[in-house]
Amino acid sequence: MKVLVIDDSKVIRMLVAECITSLGHQIINAENGDEGLKYLASNKDVDLVLLDVEMPGMNGFETTTAIRELDVDNWFPIIFLTTHQDDDSFANGILAGGDAYLPKPINTLRLQLTITAMERIYVMRQKLQQTQKGLESANKKLEYLAMYDQLTGLANRRNFDETLEKQFLLAKRNKKPISVIICDIDFFKIYNDTYGHQKGDDCLAIIASIIGEVPDRPTDKACRYGGEEFTVILPDTNLEGGLLIAERLRKAIFDKNVKHEGSKVAPCVTLSLGLATYTGQFKNEDDILKAADDALYRAKENGRNRVESC
Ligand code: GH3
Ligand code: MG
Ligand code: MG
Ligand code: MG
Repeated sequence: MKVLVIDDSKVIRMLVAECITSLGHQIINAENGDEGLKYLASNKDVDLVLLDVEMPGMNGFETTTAIRELDVDNWFPIIFLTTHQDDDSFANGILAGGDAYLPKPINTLRLQLTITAMERIYVMRQKLQQTQKGLESANKKLEYLAMYDQLTGLANRRNFDETLEKQFLLAKRNKKPISVIICDIDFFKIYNDTYGHQKGDDCLAIIASIIGEVPDRPTDKACRYGGEEFTVILPDTNLEGGLLIAERLRKAIFDKNVKHEGSKVAPCVTLSLGLATYTGQFKNEDDILKAADDALYRAKENGRNRVESC
């Protein structure tokens, strides 16, 4: 442990230092409350404080109150060293935020044993902090898994649903357009049959990375809608802008030139895209999605590797 000793008496500091170093702990000395507080304000690694009650300037109780106010989340034990043995002094010390009370002159055996008892709390506290850190990082992972697709790193279906609902409401309220693209890889079943499921997954990751990169406004959102289907939400984007992004996506996938021997439209992987733009005509987000899906159906019908819109 790192132990901070605050006492105006050099003799006491030396006695305590010997006692603490013999237990294998590290020691830091301060001559008064102010000095101790200054150290604690800029060092977050103190595990235990031994504190004199009678000092010039701030006394031990006042110093304790100030220490506890300094950082409410960073608790460590405080042991008082004092000649005041009465109940009132004891109560004042504990109520100020102290944890143990040792009489002066110092009995070194009792001091060592009290430090050993405080060390148990220190060990428990370390374990608790580690568990807490573990829980925090597990929570972050869970939050990520709940909102992002593992294979592609894109926003997942749930993320898409929540974002579309919010953005559609905003568009409606602000009387702004919003565009939604649904796209689907052409003849992807044949791709899997030709190259195997693993290569199919690799292909999905490549396509997804392009879909994630093409739309570049901060509010644009690309998602893996499911299987080999992707969606893009384009807030504040009219039909013309939506067509521009959709066509850019189609071309970027085509230009990536991922070999697809079984495809009936091109020697490479291609994308069919359906675009719908809201300009006041849809009641809710389901309607715009349905319109985009209808447009995608027409893109497939009309020969694939193309964009259709409504
Ligand atoms: P179309 O041009 O009409 O879209 O034909 P398609 O074969 O792409 O369409 P269909 O919806 O019939 O097939 C989609 C296929 O996508 C089914 C499955 O083999 C494949 N697929 C869906 N999800 C995954 C996935 O996570 N990994 C892999 N490797 N393949 C997937
Ligand atoms: Mg003193
Ligand atoms: Mg499909
Ligand atoms: Mg498909």
